[in-house]
Amino acid sequence: MSADAPLFQIDGLTIDSIRADRRRRIVQDVSLCVAPGQIYGLVGESGSGKSVSMMASVGLATTGLAVQAGTVRFGGVVQQAVDQRGLKQNLSHGISLLFQNAKGALSPFLATGAQVGRVLDRQAIPRADREARISELFRVVGLNHADLGGKYPHQISGGQAQRVAMACALATDPKLLIADEPTTALDVTTEREMLRFLKRLCEDRGLAIILVAHNLSLVSEYCSGLSILHAGQVVEDGDLGAIFDEPLHPYTQGLIAAVPDVDEPHELIPIAGSVWGGSADIDRCRFSHRCPFAMPRCDAGIPTGIRTRGRNVHCVLYDEAAS
Ligand code: SF4
Repeated sequence: MSADAPLFQIDGLTIDSIRADRRRRIVQDVSLCVAPGQIYGLVGESGSGKSVSMMASVGLATTGLAVQAGTVRFGGVVQQAVDQRGLKQNLSHGISLLFQNAKGALSPFLATGAQVGRVLDRQAIPRADREARISELFRVVGLNHADLGGKYPHQISGGQAQRVAMACALATDPKLLIADEPTTALDVTTEREMLRFLKRLCEDRGLAIILVAHNLSLVSEYCSGLSILHAGQVVEDGDLGAIFDEPLHPYTQGLIAAVPDVDEPHELIPIAGSVWGGSADIDRCRFSHRCPFAMPRCDAGIPTGIRTRGRNVHCVLYDEAAS
């Protein structure tokens, strides 16, 4: 957790997926917080519950999901996550979302300038200022409105489309940007450019960013705080430097061991097995079927978070650290 006062804080978010007669707990007691100007990483494999948690935290849980518990604090106001409609109403001002595959998110029928203008139209921007504001937003994201404002999404590159999507996200002047795998569809050069740009926005404007990603090495370059999610549970969270210097949870250790290092090449060791989608009444460590240290004690309940060495770790191996 950040030492600064949090801008956005999730506590105890718990979500079930309900399909036909089957109920599964897909997010269990997830908590995180991000401070103004901070980039906070939320990392996990596909299916770990990252995107679902973020969407539900802003009132956008999709059909088939039932939020069971949790609170969301934004700008000093605390709301119950089960009230998705209330969350959506109250958080629509101040929080923007940025997704991967910007071309898919943009309308193919509108020129890029008009797409940004459409977001501005939902606000009380005087007509006379509208064009200047669109040009300004293009400039902020490194695009030339005169060159690109009249082009349609299929006429621009993936990197340019992602910047247009970002201009749309910034048009509401948000305090928090939730960026869900924003660079997945980009080549490596454009990806780095985009992340450097996001970092500058944080430094210059105090914008807070939650960067949802599966790429741990990418997160390590740009984030100061980190939560690692496995099968809907946070297994380790806190200061990114502390976690990378000395990963404690076996899953975090496995993730870091699987990150290539061009400076110090080492054998990449994959984590055995896959993320498990457990039933709603699961009450043990969800990593136990993949963990080399699993023991009978791990099935005695969901490990509680233990504060030690600059982070929280959810694993019975560190029980004694709490005593
Ligand atoms: S609680 Fe047990 S199974 Fe889970 S990560 Fe720790 S040692 Fe492994």
